[in-house]
Amino acid sequence: MKSPDAEVLVVGGGPAGAATATVLARAGRDVLLLEKDGFYREKPCGEYYSPGVVDVLRRLGALEAVMAEEHARLDGMRVGTELAGFLLSYPDGGYDLRALGIRRKILDRVLLEHARARGVRVETTRVTGVAVKGGRVIGVRVRGAGEEVLRSRFVVAADGRRSVISRSLGLDLRVRWPRRLGLTTHYAGDYRLGLFGEMHVGEEAYCGLAPVGGGLVSVGLVVALGEKPAGEATERFFERRLAELPGAARALSDAERVGPVRGIGPMARKVGRVAGPGYLLVGDAAGFLDPFTGEGVHRALRGAELAAEAVEGALRRGDDVPVGYERSRWAAFADKERLCKIIQLLLSSPRLFSHIADNLNGRHHSAELMKGVLGDYRPAAETLKPGYIWSLLRP
Ligand SMILES: Cc1cc2nc3c(=O)[nH]c(=O)nc-3n(C[C@H](O)[C@H](O)[C@H](O)COP(=O)(O)OP(=O)(O)OC[C@H]3O[C@@H](n4cnc5c(N)ncnc54)[C@H](O)[C@@H]3O)c2cc1C
Repeated sequence: MKSPDAEVLVVGGGPAGAATATVLARAGRDVLLLEKDGFYREKPCGEYYSPGVVDVLRRLGALEAVMAEEHARLDGMRVGTELAGFLLSYPDGGYDLRALGIRRKILDRVLLEHARARGVRVETTRVTGVAVKGGRVIGVRVRGAGEEVLRSRFVVAADGRRSVISRSLGLDLRVRWPRRLGLTTHYAGDYRLGLFGEMHVGEEAYCGLAPVGGGLVSVGLVVALGEKPAGEATERFFERRLAELPGAARALSDAERVGPVRGIGPMARKVGRVAGPGYLLVGDAAGFLDPFTGEGVHRALRGAELAAEAVEGALRRGDDVPVGYERSRWAAFADKERLCKIIQLLLSSPRLFSHIADNLNGRHHSAELMKGVLGDYRPAAETLKPGYIWSLLRP
């Protein structure tokens, strides 16, 4: 039998793929990472990362390299409507980490370079699907001169929201809700944000603003899918809808758009299973809800640690199946995901959202807990208790 091309093949060089590959290479595994777009690419992203992201970057040994690049350390995020706002302010919580704003093309490049420096082989190649034998994933198919199969003992699918690995294994599920369009771009000029990001909630839309260093602010707008008229240019639609969110428009009134508008819709994705014989899914490939609570990159990086642990365990046992991966993801993410779904429901009523912001401002304990959970450094279980939910909703 032909010997494998790598012990582990990682498909996708975003945060999830680069981090999974790094941890496995550090454990002495032979890892080949395949990324279709190479090292330099832009992505639709709000570019705001919670304190929990900074914590995982430190564990990966990549924080210093990230901090050496152009970035903004942020004291937190102002979240609110025209009626009321709530400040997620990290330093005054006594936590030594702050949030981070950095362009995705920089963050992704640094993480991929970091993986390569740890011994990961990185190739620019488009994967077209999985190779399966006897019900087990034995490698991936890649587009070369013809179609070639690369073999491995394990395949890690970190190929994002449109994962070809997930699709070729028939794992994608239909998402009925939420169905939204996300649009992002950069502004430069005299924007009024200070050291905080801002999240403005309006009727059927919200907008996130995050300074990312170099005089730029990342601007992300989320609207219902299907709202953009087919005949209207994306840039024009973006600017028109932004102007309808007065807080965001005020913050950017002396700044101007300096990049194209990139979009993705529908943003949410769901899969039936995250692991099986010879493979697992990580990052957006394993599912995504909505960027409002900003946890996409945190889930990608924390999920990468769990994925690497599961693959390493299976390889050590000489096993095909990453036992325990589904369970460890559930323990890490299920409560926060429930909270995020509740927050998604609240987004449909800016009035109720304002009421909750007022209640958080008046209740120190509730506010600290919400800050920690949205900052990805406290577990979400407490926020799902009826007493806590009542503390947010009470008149
Ligand atoms: C509008 C919007 C705003 C967002 N804002 C934020 C935010 O402010 N903060 C935050 O934390 N998260 C945010 N997110 C979420 C965040 O961008 C994702 O959760 C994150 O990118 C997931 O990382 P990943 O590595 O799983 O996937 P990706 O970053 O998508 O990486 C997947 C990689 O796989 C590669 N790939 C795909 N197909 C193939 C193939 N066939 N062969 C080889 N390579 C392939 C791609 O080129 C890509 O580099 C936002 C998302 C959207 C849509």
